[in-house]
Amino acid sequence: MDRQQEFVLRTIEERDIRFVRLWFTDVLGTLKSVAIAPAELEGAFAEGIGFDGSVIEGFARVYEADMLAKPDPSTFQVLPWRGESPGTARMFCDLTLPDGTPSMADPRHVLQRALTKASDQGFTFYTHPEIEFFLLKQGWEPGRRPEPIDQSGYFDHVAHGNSHDFRRAAISMLETMGISVEFSHHEGAPGQNEIDLRYADALSTADNIMTFRAVIKEVALEQGIVASFMPKPFAEHPGSGMHTHLSLFEGDTNAFHEPGAPYQLSRTGRQFIAGLLRHGAEITAVTNQWVNSYKRLWGGGEAPAHLTWGHNNRSALVRVPMYKPSKGNSTRVEVRSIDSACNPYLAFAVLLSAGLKGIEEGYELPPETEDDVWSLTDAERRAMGIKPLPASLSDAITVMEGSELVAETLGEHTFEFFLRNKRAEWNDYRNQVSAFELDRYLLRL
Ligand code: GLN
Ligand code: MG
Ligand code: MG
Ligand code: MG
Repeated sequence: MDRQQEFVLRTIEERDIRFVRLWFTDVLGTLKSVAIAPAELEGAFAEGIGFDGSVIEGFARVYEADMLAKPDPSTFQVLPWRGESPGTARMFCDLTLPDGTPSMADPRHVLQRALTKASDQGFTFYTHPEIEFFLLKQGWEPGRRPEPIDQSGYFDHVAHGNSHDFRRAAISMLETMGISVEFSHHEGAPGQNEIDLRYADALSTADNIMTFRAVIKEVALEQGIVASFMPKPFAEHPGSGMHTHLSLFEGDTNAFHEPGAPYQLSRTGRQFIAGLLRHGAEITAVTNQWVNSYKRLWGGGEAPAHLTWGHNNRSALVRVPMYKPSKGNSTRVEVRSIDSACNPYLAFAVLLSAGLKGIEEGYELPPETEDDVWSLTDAERRAMGIKPLPASLSDAITVMEGSELVAETLGEHTFEFFLRNKRAEWNDYRNQVSAFELDRYLLRL
């Protein structure tokens, strides 16, 4: 047993932990959990805990159903919402097949593979997400409109506001679990909030996002409200994005930083953005994975709809934020398409692969777009060479199907499952006859 594993076992004794939850994530980004007794833990570290993978979304075909979950001791945390003694703790797991080889259906492994590829080229990948979500009143029922908990807007200070109390409780719980929060504020839509996590290596960030969603939902329930990460719950309000700031480091040096260059952005940084733009359409099904995601992307509200980059341009897909000398090495690029309901492991893996491809192939960065892309006509956009993001989940799947980059990054198993599952989702959606259609056509002719 290594030292981290010993530390976990000791902590479990000292803190009277009676349940250890093993966490992992299915291909669609749902958190899965199995609780074991502390006595099982030594075995779990050594060999993993067996479970039936065939019932988990995207994992295994029935004839190869046996899978093992091996806890990663570096992710050990006590779950504050389960109370003190006796306590409950959790660890994220790596999933393997019975012979010990990593499961290609494990999103965490997909990201680890992409990170290894980056580190073979000398890079560490850091991410910093701005996570937006809605707080709603309890009691929503299918067919009804959800009710936000307030009517406030961007950066509003709400006296005695629920959001205020909510954010304070959520942030202290996140900090207790070792997740540092940098900013938080009310967002543009009623009931909408944003919490930004401090940057960390991409695997920790993806784990943190999974924890974040669980914490936000728990704290909301404690306060008698409900949290939603749905990308666009209200047609007339902005949706919930998860703008993510990306950077590559070579040792202690930010590989995107070049003093004196425009926006202090190095050649590597420019090529990385070029990769994000060139492969932006084919990775969108992964960063924006639901039918509803496209209502956000095409619904205004500062969400991007075109493959552009810029500095001070909120309609751009990729933005290079203002450089603050006081923050030293902080050059980074912000991707604005990705939404809060993605699978963060898979989304970070495809973003990294797209950017690395730009570096490997030495892509040239097209000129930045100063204009608000929304206010241009289609013809103007075409003349400027500005291409749109996929307009629907169906379009996104179609481009992804032809993508070598995404196939290679996700691996054959996850790539095929994902496409099959998303095609089915699109067909379910297409088969609906909506209220919009009845209103518009029933009595029309
Ligand atoms: N909610 C907007 C989006 O969907 C972003 C608003 C903002 O952070 N400026 O991307
Ligand atoms: Mg923000
Ligand atoms: Mg925001
Ligand atoms: Mg932002």
